[in-house]
Amino acid sequence: MIEVNHSKIKETNRKKIIKLLLEKNEVTKLDISRSLDISITTVSTNITELKKEGIVSDVRSLESTGGRKAMALKINENCRFALGIALTPRHVKLSLINLKKEVIGDIRIRHNKKDIESIIAIAKENINKILNNKEISIDKLLGIGISIPGTVDSEEGIIKNCYLLGAENYNLKKSFEEFNTTIYIDNEANLSAYYEFLNKKDILSNLLYVSITDGLGLGIIIDGKIYRGSNNAAGEMGHIKIIIGGKSCKCGSQGCLESYTSKNVLIEDFNEISNEKLNDIEEFISLFEKGDKTTKEVLERYFNILGIGIANLTMLLDPSSVVLGGDINSLLKENIDVLRSIVYKDNLFTNEENCKIDVTEFKESYLLGAAMVPLEEFLN
Ligand SMILES: [Zn+2]
Repeated sequence: MIEVNHSKIKETNRKKIIKLLLEKNEVTKLDISRSLDISITTVSTNITELKKEGIVSDVRSLESTGGRKAMALKINENCRFALGIALTPRHVKLSLINLKKEVIGDIRIRHNKKDIESIIAIAKENINKILNNKEISIDKLLGIGISIPGTVDSEEGIIKNCYLLGAENYNLKKSFEEFNTTIYIDNEANLSAYYEFLNKKDILSNLLYVSITDGLGLGIIIDGKIYRGSNNAAGEMGHIKIIIGGKSCKCGSQGCLESYTSKNVLIEDFNEISNEKLNDIEEFISLFEKGDKTTKEVLERYFNILGIGIANLTMLLDPSSVVLGGDINSLLKENIDVLRSIVYKDNLFTNEENCKIDVTEFKESYLLGAAMVPLEEFLN
């Protein structure tokens, strides 16, 4: 037992030192010892190890007022990396970040593959590409985080069900075994919620992230942790029934919230009432921005339903923050006041003061969230 505790303390000290070095540009061993209240001997041992691993290096010797000159140390932010990958029905996206969370490489591949194996093949090819582009060897990778728009067992690394990618009970972790690095898998909305939370963790501990993409997902952060439920199926907000015997849903059921609020609904509804036919959401957004009346009409109905869905959520979980994001952020931003008024209207249980409703500031928080998982694991 004592052995275990020792190695745990050692690990904690090491992480604390790395975190401090990431916060400050230059520090001396004495600074570290004082800031973290760790003995100078322990600091020295750790620094020697970190230097050997190429994580820390000397910057310059500082002027001293007597005695030995102190050495200023800095972290080499480009000595380790974390990779985030998002597998979506139309894209494979990769983002490579360094220790300072800076994105240093990005790849986006558009595809029309319908089976999970082909999509994975694209991802694998591009893992090699992004690392080769930056001349990074795989052993400098802290891990790979993968975002999936479906239900996953993140502990086992299994996709439980993802009809958007045509995968069921699929061992994704195993597919990436050849890279010999730790693979983390999570649901898209969970990762978005996680990323959003990491950026706000000083001010709140509960947060809901509503993800509007080809589906409608929900990421739940309770007391700073992703809430997954007992079968990893928490947050299936898209399949809450809102109309008995309503529209057919991709899940096989009817009347699900998702069949009224995924981004594709905007295109379908528009095409139903207009002579003009749209193919993708970008066309819809551009028409709306030009002041097109039909898009306005479609959006009004859309936000009414989405607003009711979010109002129901606030009643269930009483969050302090609901963040919306995904693929229609510009539409959400322009209509956020409409949405807020629907959520708070006739809502006895919460209000603008207690529950903030905002649109994310990040374009692809699921992708950044995926990259952050291995990095956070390394640091915390
Ligand atoms: Zn459904």
